[in-house]
Amino acid sequence: MNMYVDVLVEIKNKHVDKTFTYKVPKSLEADVEVGKRVVVPFGKMTLEGYILNRKDQSDIETKEILEVIDEEPVLNVEMMTLGTFVQEKTLASLSACYGAMLPKALKAKKSVTLSKKMVSYLKLAMGYEEIYAKLTNDSQKRILELFQQEDLVLKKEANKISASAVKTMLKKEYIEQLEEEVYRYQLKEVEKEAKKIFTPAQEKAYQKIKEELNTEKVFLLHGVTGSGKTEVYLQLIEDVLNLGKTALVLVPEISLTSQLTERFHKRFGNNIAVLHSGLSDAERYDEWRKILREEVSIVIGARSAVFAPLKNIGIIIMDEEHSESYKQENNPRYHALDIAKKRAETHHCPVILGSATPSLSSMARAIKGVYQYVPLLERANQKKLPNILIVDMALEVQNRHPILSRELECKIIEKLNKNEQVMLLLNRRGHSTTITCSNCGYTYRCPHCDISLTYHKSSNQLRCHYCGYTKYKDDRCPNCHEDALNYLGLGTEKLEEYLGNVFPTARIIRMDRDSTTTKGMHEKIITDFYDHKYDILLGTQMVSKGLDFPHVSLVGILNADASLNIPDYRSNERTFSLLCQASGRAGRKDTTGEVIIQTFYPDNFIMQCVKEQNYQKFCKYELNIRKTLKYPPFYYLCNLTIRSKDYEEAVKEARKAKEFLETKLDKTSLLLGPTTANMFLVNKVYHFEILIKYKSDEKLISALKELDEMCLLNSKIALDIDFLS
Ligand code: ADP
Ligand code: ZN
Repeated sequence: MNMYVDVLVEIKNKHVDKTFTYKVPKSLEADVEVGKRVVVPFGKMTLEGYILNRKDQSDIETKEILEVIDEEPVLNVEMMTLGTFVQEKTLASLSACYGAMLPKALKAKKSVTLSKKMVSYLKLAMGYEEIYAKLTNDSQKRILELFQQEDLVLKKEANKISASAVKTMLKKEYIEQLEEEVYRYQLKEVEKEAKKIFTPAQEKAYQKIKEELNTEKVFLLHGVTGSGKTEVYLQLIEDVLNLGKTALVLVPEISLTSQLTERFHKRFGNNIAVLHSGLSDAERYDEWRKILREEVSIVIGARSAVFAPLKNIGIIIMDEEHSESYKQENNPRYHALDIAKKRAETHHCPVILGSATPSLSSMARAIKGVYQYVPLLERANQKKLPNILIVDMALEVQNRHPILSRELECKIIEKLNKNEQVMLLLNRRGHSTTITCSNCGYTYRCPHCDISLTYHKSSNQLRCHYCGYTKYKDDRCPNCHEDALNYLGLGTEKLEEYLGNVFPTARIIRMDRDSTTTKGMHEKIITDFYDHKYDILLGTQMVSKGLDFPHVSLVGILNADASLNIPDYRSNERTFSLLCQASGRAGRKDTTGEVIIQTFYPDNFIMQCVKEQNYQKFCKYELNIRKTLKYPPFYYLCNLTIRSKDYEEAVKEARKAKEFLETKLDKTSLLLGPTTANMFLVNKVYHFEILIKYKSDEKLISALKELDEMCLLNSKIALDIDFLS
């Protein structure tokens, strides 16, 4: 009997997003298994693909597979189902979905080959005394002595004494050599830490969840900053491990993983795998295999860790659940929450969503009783929430204090004098946001995009934050050649420079995307600031989230309005959450924290809610607006982007798409647009958007699939489908 397999080939083209049947030559039959990768002929090419099915018959003449790549399947049964699930949720291609799930080294792509890191050990091949009796050479004796303490000696160590002696001893078969794999990513050594005694509020929250560990319920743990959510997670995980199960912990981004990982590490030792973008491909590959081999029971990681191949999951935790980084912004555009819930169903385990400022959609579900609401509304150490002062920047600008208000400047001096630490948030990287000529009015703009270029002083370059275009700055205006270039707008780099001038003795460190490009830089900045090697930490929203620095007693937020003015239905929510999160960094240990927020809209309702730290008030207000304007959580949103280098073509196709949908969709669905996108012109490509608001529309998916097919036929345009909620 013959053997056949259905193979999903990895090729960047939606037209071929289906499986092809291949015959398995007799010589490879034993190696073939569903979930492994194979090399197959495809037209004139050879491609890699995943085996999705095995069968004994084929109706058609088929080619043969050329090679089986893996010893063990890279996709297990659960992951194969998850791939299909992601495809249904996002309408992306199946191979893109599997691609998003796997670390680079295990994707079906020809370019990457990674090997395991092996280390050689030496072992005695006969009794110690027996060997000793035969030795005449001193080096050999010294090598033998290494085995008095250890059974296994690193070959590298023995070679240090004498490589030739090692060679001889191996040849004479006194000792033998063995190879063992070592994992490239190693956790730092830390001291174990005992669990803390819960506060009554923590105890109550913990009990409520613990009673339901064998359900698939979703819990919304609403804990104010510093309420001790992490302690609750740790205890729940311990319970789950005691039941012989595993735990999946998601954090929004890499800046948070290091502190959290350390706390987990202190509690659970080496029983942890870590997956985030700060690891090299090789480290990721190793961490992934640790999980596959069931050598660890806890996985901590960012968004894509939701696909970690853990077995027997007992709890899934999404910390800072409101974070937008849980949504992937390119294909497949999945939300980690959907995947988490799907896996929770498969494993019959709960999902815990933790946040100080829950997303409105989660809160609405909690209000409806779809999620279980677990409040944790006091700080664990009885510290009061920080005092917040709102400063009107209109006055400060008049008084020539446009960067730091007088209040903030005085406070910083006061804190520095008391040897306390300060954090400053400025959500804009670079030095100046525009350079303009004061003689002729010339402004540097990106030649490919619709925005002005940001100046980065450290590299003396102008950079486009949309497409990455860079050019060196000229000494004189490139238009009128006058020496009249002006640096406008404040970025983190300029702020750092400014602070250095105002507080010359303070030790200042900056954390943003530019200062953390080298590997491990993130962790270093956080650790150094934690160890009080710096007095002031300034940075973009990277510094706002989740970090726990006991000696920070003042947080200053410099451009609190920046996120308020972005035209997006989530602007209020984003602003409220960013300001509360940032404020929560102050006064976590011995002092009551102080927060100064600089704004041009001191009377804005959101600012008032932040000042009072009143989530309920904000929530009620914002839900009302969302209801009136038909936005989530009252309507679902799907955003379509039509892209083209050809302006006319983009306009025409966007209009056509809208007309098509009008005829197809349910009457209860609303169509807005086409309008120009926020990022209208990026890299010489024009972007138009159509927004669909819907409640339940059975015709939506089939209509979108049909539209997608239609757009594929026009090579001048591309369509992106993005389910926003
Ligand atoms: P959250 O994650 O809610 O912001 P954390 O778990 O980071 O809060 O706790 C804030 C601080 O309070 C941490 O320094 C933590 O060690 C401490 N803490 C938490 N729970 C307790 C407790 N029960 N007793 C003493 N200290 C606690
Ligand atoms: Zn650009």
